[in-house]
Amino acid sequence: MQQNVPFLDLKAQYQSIKDEVNEAILSVVESCAYVKGPAVKQFQKNFAEYCDVKYAVGVANGTDAIYLALRAVGIGPGDEVITTPDTFIATTEAITQAGAKIVFVDINPETYNINISKIEEKITQKTKAIIPVHLFGQPADMDPIIEIAQKYNLKIVEDAAQAHGAYYFGKRVGTFGDVACFSFYPGKNLGAYGDGGAIATNNEEIATQVEKLADHGSLKKYIHEEEGGNSRLDSVQAAVLDVKLKYLDQWNESRRKNAYVYNELLKNVAGVITPVELENTTPVYHLYVIQVEGRDGLQQKLSDAGIASGIHYPYPLHLTPAYQYLGLKKGDFPEAEKCADRFLSLPMYPELTESMIQKVCDVILNN
Ligand SMILES: *Cc1c(COP(=O)(O)O)cnc(C)c1O
Repeated sequence: MQQNVPFLDLKAQYQSIKDEVNEAILSVVESCAYVKGPAVKQFQKNFAEYCDVKYAVGVANGTDAIYLALRAVGIGPGDEVITTPDTFIATTEAITQAGAKIVFVDINPETYNINISKIEEKITQKTKAIIPVHLFGQPADMDPIIEIAQKYNLKIVEDAAQAHGAYYFGKRVGTFGDVACFSFYPGKNLGAYGDGGAIATNNEEIATQVEKLADHGSLKKYIHEEEGGNSRLDSVQAAVLDVKLKYLDQWNESRRKNAYVYNELLKNVAGVITPVELENTTPVYHLYVIQVEGRDGLQQKLSDAGIASGIHYPYPLHLTPAYQYLGLKKGDFPEAEKCADRFLSLPMYPELTESMIQKVCDVILNN
């Protein structure tokens, strides 16, 4: 059946910047500098400036960004890394890839980010880092996280894959940790035309270490100081991203406007909880996620009306088959489990129109 409202519309965004982005791609093609060329350098410089940090290093994708960031801050076998079970599996895959052990802390039921009051009870002698995830574009509560990290001498690796450009107390997310990780997967707030990722940091050593690990452990060709891998951002993607970066704030603003239209239309609907916005934060609504009683039935009704929706994520990570080996069970992280049963992601992208939002909400109002 025809989709009246898609979940996101990459085509609409492409149309709006078509000439500029085509020209940027062609210029890389013609330059023949396809890997680590000037386009990558230029984007890294501009992205660092955008994030308000000294260094940004492009890598192949967001998952690698987290893995390389963990390695660069010294995480390895025997270490424990704290994060939440309510995130995309990339966050925890990166911990395992770095050789460390995943330790989950339940989420705050209002913000869906890590529950600050439950972190300390999970800290052991082996805990070396914490990965706050700015889930759905909502900044995690960084001040208390920084306080805990200082008290226990932990590294902070921000997972900002869903939060490019969000603000927490007037500062961009990505500036609070030792290092922050971004994904440029096409559907992200800043998306490439393929895979891409970056780390952002004020620490020169970490930036250099990520750059080195991402290129076979070498800063100079064929001088391999250690084993790394191949995780470079390619020049075509960098050129696309550099064009799109100029529009990111404007697109995020449109996402926020759309979120407020949803909030207004859904504010008095029984059984529906809309996202909260904490004081002094400016979220960027990578996803607009409601909690709703009888989620599966509503999702079917939306689908019948030609409205796409999503579930992020249907299983909290501790109940995902991949993590059976951790020996965790239902009931261990009740807030994350409750949300997984109730979350519903509604269409959200900058080009979404008010009348489309109205259509979505009509179905919810008549549910
Ligand atoms: C998308 C995402 C990632 C991984 O990014 P990729 O570029 O797809 O590898 C990591 N963490 C979160 C929270 C994400 O949403």
